[in-house]
Amino acid sequence: MEETREALEFDVLFVGGGPANLAGAIHLMNLAQQAGKEIEVCLIEKAESIGSHSLSGAIMDPVALKELMPDYLDKGCPIEVAECRDEFYYLTPSGKVKVPYTPGYMHNDGCHIVSLSKYCSWLGEQAEALGVMVFPGFAGTEILYDGDRVIGIRTGDKGIDKDGNKRPNFEPGVDLMAKVTVFGEGPKGSLLRELGKKLGIFEGKMPQVFETAVKEVIQIPDSSPFIASNTTVLHSFGYPLGLDTKGGGFLYKMKENRVALGFVVGLEYEDPLLEPYQAFLSFKKHPLIAEIIKGGKVLQQGAKTLPAGGFYSMPRLAVDGALIVGDSASMLNIQRLKGIHTATKSGLLAAETIMAAVDSDNYSADTLNAYEEKIAGSWIKKELYAARNFGQALSQKGFGKFITIGAQYLSGGRGFTDPMPIEEDSSSLKKAAAAEAPGASSDSQDLDGKLYLDKLTGLYLSGTTHEENQPCHLIIPDPNLCITDCYDTYRSPCTLFCPAQVYELEEEPDGSKRLKLNPSNCLHCKTCEIKDPYKNIIWTCPEGGGGPKYSIV
Ligand code: SF4
Repeated sequence: MEETREALEFDVLFVGGGPANLAGAIHLMNLAQQAGKEIEVCLIEKAESIGSHSLSGAIMDPVALKELMPDYLDKGCPIEVAECRDEFYYLTPSGKVKVPYTPGYMHNDGCHIVSLSKYCSWLGEQAEALGVMVFPGFAGTEILYDGDRVIGIRTGDKGIDKDGNKRPNFEPGVDLMAKVTVFGEGPKGSLLRELGKKLGIFEGKMPQVFETAVKEVIQIPDSSPFIASNTTVLHSFGYPLGLDTKGGGFLYKMKENRVALGFVVGLEYEDPLLEPYQAFLSFKKHPLIAEIIKGGKVLQQGAKTLPAGGFYSMPRLAVDGALIVGDSASMLNIQRLKGIHTATKSGLLAAETIMAAVDSDNYSADTLNAYEEKIAGSWIKKELYAARNFGQALSQKGFGKFITIGAQYLSGGRGFTDPMPIEEDSSSLKKAAAAEAPGASSDSQDLDGKLYLDKLTGLYLSGTTHEENQPCHLIIPDPNLCITDCYDTYRSPCTLFCPAQVYELEEEPDGSKRLKLNPSNCLHCKTCEIKDPYKNIIWTCPEGGGGPKYSIV
């Protein structure tokens, strides 16, 4: 029998509580106020609180925030370090070479170091103060349509047990209806995947591709050389990935003797035995970093993916009744290694488009397509267009990539080939050699449980919890594929690329293998859905409120 559900109606519904949607909701309220109009605006977020699923490298160019809120500092915007002073290194296994020249786009003059979770939490407060109805703990699990027009979303049921039966605390999901729905779910949104299937928003575009970042906040002692140093930002490439695999490390100074340390791996990597978490630990043990964090203690750890496709991967941005913003729309500028500013600007332009739609009482694609035009006429397009082939160049092997990058630099982003092709992350793995066993687990590294952590200790420090008695949110359409084809060909790479030990290979008494899932460990990074070579993992939203509880990363 069809569940009876409550339906709530709004003018505008923002799905996801990241910088794009929060900025969009604030700007929309301001515009409505200036126009003397009353509009009902709702924002939902699957995390327990706004900001607790937000994790990033977090150097923020405040250019768009200044447009939204010129007095952001007076309003208490949480800045960790106001000024960025950069150093950039090429690392060998035990040495380092400081890169003497970096192109202008890599400079972070005028940028701030922030904790994205604190920043989003603060934006959430600003939105609420303006009258936005902010509902954390609610996951959007289904898009509602009238024909091909998006008319809202359904939130997930709560209180369903592992076998799909109602528990005593069962609460049906709610239908949130809106004239315009704004999708800002972050990278690889699960609703956007469904929107793509229904309305073809990714058709004719290059594939969506990603990088996975593992990140920690570490308390470092007074004696650390980084405390006295003027430098606030370190970036590196080279070790441990070498030059054939895209990725690199970062270290940012924070308040109160803390640093944010992270390592990013491009998910088009080829070696099925590569473990991004292991690469993070190796980077952390490099002398450049080890000396800075010596005597320190990890306070929080997390992982997430970043969209790396950029301009050529951007989907159609408007459909009847809906807009797509920020990382969901692949707007991160991979060349500048930042996306908060582009996400924020996209939220502002979405708000301005919606306000015009409110004025004309027309929410069709004809009106909302103005958003696509606004993006094309803004500095977002300018930045992303200049970087349109940069990620592809970085994915090239060896030093040759720097020649391509140089050519792009001199030709406004065109380089030798434009557009350079992008390969889907799920199709890049090479077969594992017959004799190779699954790669070394992070547990085999020299770990002390305080500064150098195994995955499960790190997971504990992410604060991740889920209701245990709920249906598994990781759908494996063909489980047999995992232990036959996937193990034989790639040695079950999900056991390595997942940063939270959700996937484990177990041996049955008869010697056969079985893939065991620990879904409650999930950090919601989506790496598994992106990288699985058989596209045999589908990430769906678990019960709202579950997942990491980031507060300082
Ligand atoms: Fe990330 Fe998938 Fe592992 Fe969850 S299960 S932490 S989404 S790789």
